[in-house]
Formats: sequence, C-alpha cells, structure tokens
Amino acid sequence: MSKSTPMSNNCITLVGAGLAGSLLSIYLAKRGFDVEVYERRSDMRAEEISAGRSINLALSTRGIHALDEVGLKQEVMRIAIPMKGRMVHDLNGGLAFHRYGKDDTEVINSVSRGELNMKLMTEAEKQGVQIHFNRRCTGIDFGADKVIFQDTKSKAERKTRASVVIGTDGSASAIRNDMQREDKCAFSQDFLEHGYKELTIPPGTNGAFQLEKNALHIWPRGAYMLIALPNLDGSFTCTLFFSFEGQPSFARLQTEADVSRFFEAQFPDAAPLMPTLVEDFFANPTGKLATVKCQPWHVAGSVCLLGDAAHAIVPFFGQGMNCAFEDCTVLNECIGKLRPDWASIFKEFEALRKVNADAIADLALANYHEMRDHVADPKFQLKRQVEFALEEKYPGVFIPRYSMVSFHRIPYSVAKSRGEIQADILHELCDPIDTLEQVDWMSAERLIRDKLQEKLLDG
Ligand SMILES: Cc1cc2nc3c(=O)[nH]c(=O)nc-3n(C[C@H](O)[C@H](O)[C@H](O)COP(=O)(O)OP(=O)(O)OC[C@H]3O[C@@H](n4cnc5c(N)ncnc54)[C@H](O)[C@@H]3O)c2cc1C
Repeated sequence: MSKSTPMSNNCITLVGAGLAGSLLSIYLAKRGFDVEVYERRSDMRAEEISAGRSINLALSTRGIHALDEVGLKQEVMRIAIPMKGRMVHDLNGGLAFHRYGKDDTEVINSVSRGELNMKLMTEAEKQGVQIHFNRRCTGIDFGADKVIFQDTKSKAERKTRASVVIGTDGSASAIRNDMQREDKCAFSQDFLEHGYKELTIPPGTNGAFQLEKNALHIWPRGAYMLIALPNLDGSFTCTLFFSFEGQPSFARLQTEADVSRFFEAQFPDAAPLMPTLVEDFFANPTGKLATVKCQPWHVAGSVCLLGDAAHAIVPFFGQGMNCAFEDCTVLNECIGKLRPDWASIFKEFEALRKVNADAIADLALANYHEMRDHVADPKFQLKRQVEFALEEKYPGVFIPRYSMVSFHRIPYSVAKSRGEIQADILHELCDPIDTLEQVDWMSAERLIRDKLQEKLLDG
C-alpha cells in the first residue's frame, strides 16, 4: 500500500473474525492497538444455537498456550473434553485403545468450534476491539490504503482506510486473492482426492455418551475412514473422509439404501447409533480439503496474511487451528521486538512461520495415511510402544513425532526433520522383532547417540 498518505499505525484492521482473527485481535488490543475486525458472517452469538449439528476441533498444546497468553485458557478448558487416545473400531466392532501421549497429562481436547469462536469474540470486545459483522471484504486497493467491504445485507460497498491490514479470512482469503491478482504473491492450492462429510451420533438416554467419552474414535478402512469426537451434550460429531469418485466413493452412494448398506457393512457398531444417518448424509454438504501455500505472506509493512489465509492444511493432524493460534503467539512476539516497524515485523513473522507452516502441511498429509491405513497395524502399534519406551529412557532427546507436534511447542519443522530420523531408528529397531521385550537396547543406545544426540528445546 502507498506510504504517501500517512495514517496512524496504531490502528489495525483485521479481515475475518474466525478463530485466528478473534484471537489475534485480543493480543493486539492487549498491546494497546485500536483494532477493527470485519467479518462476513452475522454475529453467531445473536443467533439461536442450533440443536442439531455441532462441529468440534481438537485443541492441543500450541493452541492452549496462546489461549493462556490472552488469559482464556481456564475458560476454554471448561468446555473441553480431553481425548486420551484413539479408540480404533475394527470391521467386527472390536475395539482397541491406543493412547496419544506417555501418560494422562498428554491429551488432546475436543472443543466446539462455535463456542470457542464466541468466547474469543466476547473477550475481544471486552478488550475494546470493534467487530463489524455482515461485512464481506471484496478486495483491497493497495495504492490507496483502502480495503473494500460489502454490507452483506444492503449490498452497499464501502472503501475503508487502513494502513495496517491483517488477512485472517481463512483458506479462501479475499486479501490473498487480491495479493495474487496484483502479482504480490505466488499461490498454490492442492486439493485432496478425498472430501469430508459431517454426521452425528446423538446422546443416549439422559445425555449419556454412546461411545467412550475420552477418546477420538476412528474406523480406519484403508482407502477411507470415519472419525468421531465427543461433545459436551453427550453427542459425537462424526466425519467421514472419503473419495469423491471411484469405488467406493461419495459418487457411488446415491440412494438411501446405498448409504445404509455401506455404513452397516463398514462401520457396523457406529451405524445403529446414527438414527439420522441417511437424512444427515444427504442434507449435509460434502467439504473439500486442500493444502494452500503462498509466498510472500506480506506486502511491505501494510498487509499480512495469518492462519488459514496464509497456509491452509488438511485436518489429519488436528493442527490447523493450533498452528493459526501459534501464528498469533509468534506475531505478538515479533511486534514486541520490532514495533512500530511493521515491514520488519511482517518480514520476521513470515521468516519464522513459513518454514513451520510448510512442515505441518506435509505432516498433516502424511498423517492421513497413518490414520486410515496404519493405526490398526500391529507393527505400527509396536513402534508406538517402542517410541514411548525410548522417550522414557532418553527424555528430551527422543520424543515421539505425534507428541512433538501435539504436546510440545517444538517448531513443526524440527518435529518433521527429527521425526524422519526417529522413523529410521524405529524402523531399524522394530523391523526384526514382534514385541517390546525383544528390543535390542544396545542398538537403541547406539542409534540415539549417533543420530539424535542433542536435547530438544521446547518453545
Ligand atoms: C473438517 C475439518 C476439521 C478440522 N479439525 C481441526 C482440528 O481438530 N484441530 C485444528 O487445530 N484444526 C482443525 N481444522 C482446521 C481449522 O478449522 C482451521 O485451521 C482454522 O479454522 C483456521 O482459522 P482461521 O481463523 O485462519 O480461518 P477460519 O476459521 O476459516 O476463519 C475465517 C473467518 O473469516 C471470515 N471471512 C472469510 N472470508 C471473508 C471475507 N471476504 N470478508 C470478511 N470475512 C471473511 C469467515 O467467515 C471466518 O469467520 C479442521 C478443518 C476442517 C476443514
């Protein structure tokens, strides 16, 4: 944007009051900035909470850390359900529980997306942030320090002056689109051949959970999978990740009978718990999943992207929101160090985050294969046991990859590179054996010494 007509750079304009935008606005307000947020949707707090669908997300250490920094951790954890591990459902309805962490202190948490977003917006307003609802950003005038918003009710368009703009408008970001159109950033979007559909297991009698409450349920079926996360009201939000085309696929489930037959055959213990399965299946949209990358994320000191707008990832590591929240933590640190030089702040922010956003994008894709193909595999389970044993023997040196990502704030790029080395070690130790008792601990000692000497520093 032009520097010809100076405006106070104590005023910050955010586009999008989703999870990242609302959280970031709190950080900024706490630093004394005047923050205005423009949100396309209406105020969800004013609308009736729908009794039907509740969408939830897995919140883990990075996200919790950010919430703690803005003083919201306790409040959010009150609405969170800890999930200690994966409950794997086989084709015969058999169950196997595999914990996520070394003990019960290492859990991920199921939180309602809507409730969390509302809490963040309410806190933002308490801190003096002004949120303008029903304002859809339609573009940005880089030459005139102006962002264009359309009132979604009257359809009137207005240009709003803004010297520092942060695009937190999600994976289809209008800000990013204009950066791209004006050749200010390069962009790629890779769609997965799989889409997703949200379904429901309602509460049982008296609000009872019909499946184990403190677990993320997973029905891994190789080419596709169903997962379910618990909600406070006793229901579970299920998500079917499934190919768009081919056999089997969304395209092949055309009739009510197709859907019932498929679920009864593939998810025999879940289907009877889903009385509205067929209605939900046809009423709920089929979502697409994509990895979005772009570079640079910022235009000098005037515009920057953050959260999904900069780096949307597939959801298989449960890290999109956690990563977006960590963006807020890091941007806040950059502001602390470099204020009021926004060009340097955005440059440093991107330098610190891009490499990590790329790493978690790769890890998330890799985890899809792990979840749908490997979790039920005995070799995979043996490796998990050996990982935990190595973590106990070599604390701070060997940390399972899942734990580095979900229970630590070790940079994602380090988790990725370190994870690759550890995978080689596990491969060498576990390939010739079938049980934990057979591990050659002398070899383990040598491998750790040769490949992983230094301790990891947690963020
Ligand atoms: C199926 C699924 C499951 C997921 N599960 C997890 C999980 O378990 N854990 C996890 O950490 N992450 C998960 N994620 C990822 C997570 O949802 C995103 O990473 C997170 O929502 C990103 O936050 P954001 O604020 O950047 O974007 P969003 O949450 O998308 O918010 C963007 C906001 O901008 C607004 N907006 C959009 N365009 C405009 C415009 N033109 N003008 C004004 N406002 C606009 C939108 O209305 C919205 O409020 C999942 C994603 C999917 C699809």
